[in-house]
Amino acid sequence: MKRHALAIDGPAGAGKSSVAKMVAKRLHYTYIDTGAMYRATTYKAIVLGVDLQDPEAFGFLDDTMMEFHDGILFVDGEEMTQKIRSNQVSNHVSVVASHIPVRNKLVLLQQKISKNHNVVMDGRDIGTVVLPHADLKIFMTASVEERARRRHEENQSLGIPSDYHQLIDEIKRRDQIDSTRIYNPLRQAEDAVFLDTSDMDIHEVADKIYEMFANVLQPKGSERTNG
Ligand code: C5P
Repeated sequence: MKRHALAIDGPAGAGKSSVAKMVAKRLHYTYIDTGAMYRATTYKAIVLGVDLQDPEAFGFLDDTMMEFHDGILFVDGEEMTQKIRSNQVSNHVSVVASHIPVRNKLVLLQQKISKNHNVVMDGRDIGTVVLPHADLKIFMTASVEERARRRHEENQSLGIPSDYHQLIDEIKRRDQIDSTRIYNPLRQAEDAVFLDTSDMDIHEVADKIYEMFANVLQPKGSERTNG
């Protein structure tokens, strides 16, 4: 059975995860937050005390079980939501995500999930590497200030300590590492729809993407009529 996929890429804090969650719910698709997988890898590496700069230090991923239930990531049976949002994880995740063995492992896992489920997947390389044949690809961005403001609100709603100015610095630094890394950097796929959401409400963005996706699956005017 053919599975469908919506790929949403973009820089840190563009609102991808909130939008992806809303659209997935409306479509009854599985939501996969790939950023959470890189964050959980970073978290586990910190707990294990491995050298985060060493690309070969992530062999533990072979014995790590990552699963999503209702859009929530569980690692080795443990829920990850809060732990992976700490400043310590945010400050190191882009270095960890630049390691080739880490990316290869997580990309394979993401592709495996999408084989068995209809997915809305968000990240940095979904349209370019993970799901090059996605039904629709969106590249979502917004100004740095707006992205920091959204991340700040998201952190506050999750009860995570948050400082707006610190977030601006962190986002700029992560954008720089993510878009200049050599292997699978953050970039817009040639066939992705570019969406600047700086002046859009998150619900408007979700509605727009939902409509675009519905139109790709069943172009307007092609609906079957009974008469
Ligand atoms: O989406 P989020 O901001 O939580 O992602 C955290 C980090 O994980 C990103 O800054 C990036 O370094 C990495 N990432 C990635 N590829 C993805 C998703 C996230 O490199 N597909």
